[in-house]
Amino acid sequence: MTLALSVRDLTLDYGDLKVLKGVTFDVAAGEVLCVIGPSGSGKSTLLRCVAYLEDHFGGAIRVDGELLGRRERGGKVVPVRGAALRKVQGKVGMVFQHFNLWPHMSALRNVMEPLTVVKRMDREAARALAMENLAKVGVADKADAYPPRLSGGQQQRVAIARALAMQPRVMLFDEATSSLDPELVNEVLGVMRQLAEEGMTMLVVTHEMEFAKKVADRVIFMDGGVIAEEGPPAQLFDHPREARTRAFLSLID
Ligand code: ADP
Ligand code: MG
Repeated sequence: MTLALSVRDLTLDYGDLKVLKGVTFDVAAGEVLCVIGPSGSGKSTLLRCVAYLEDHFGGAIRVDGELLGRRERGGKVVPVRGAALRKVQGKVGMVFQHFNLWPHMSALRNVMEPLTVVKRMDREAARALAMENLAKVGVADKADAYPPRLSGGQQQRVAIARALAMQPRVMLFDEATSSLDPELVNEVLGVMRQLAEEGMTMLVVTHEMEFAKKVADRVIFMDGGVIAEEGPPAQLFDHPREARTRAFLSLID
């Protein structure tokens, strides 16, 4: 079995604040792992480390077997920069709560830009791949629209297309539906579900417990910078072992 992602003893401090205190888990190829837990428990920080938006973490993250941002040399671990870093980092796609689209670029340009800048694709190939991915998430007709003219659900689907077009090994979603109006949540969850069914490897931070129950292969409950409990959704939601998992679930239901 190929491990798409392996996280070993991940730690991260912001000054005196210990945010991640030794987080270890694997995600197999094609697996959907949902991460739940209270606000401030370190879920976003975990995803930011895996996307290498944070580089001062301790422990090891491997994507497709390759160490992220580090290299072992003569028994020592040294940082990696430049093309070698981008190669591994490029295997991770991330979708944010607030979409993070460039407002002054059309939807199409938003998806093309990383393809031309990071992957150095020529414009015609980038345009074709971008259109293919906009179509996949159902917003091909919005290719020429600017983000401020799109609904939140459409903007988030463009953001998903932008991440997918980079052909990542793992997709990360950080509360991708939390800033959407309620009537727009399902169009984005639907796209995420479709990706899961197609076999995309996904690490999904979510408050959508129904989504986690139906789509996740496994669920992690984070509390205070550690994994407090982990298991298949049927077990974690219906028969949680830990008192703090039960307390959390009773608050959100
Ligand atoms: P979650 O996503 O589970 O709500 P976060 O990972 O965003 O949690 O945050 C975990 C903790 O780290 C919180 O106490 C938060 O205030 C702190 N934190 C997050 N980002 C920073 C930062 N850039 N500087 C200092 N503290 C931060
Ligand atoms: Mg968060």
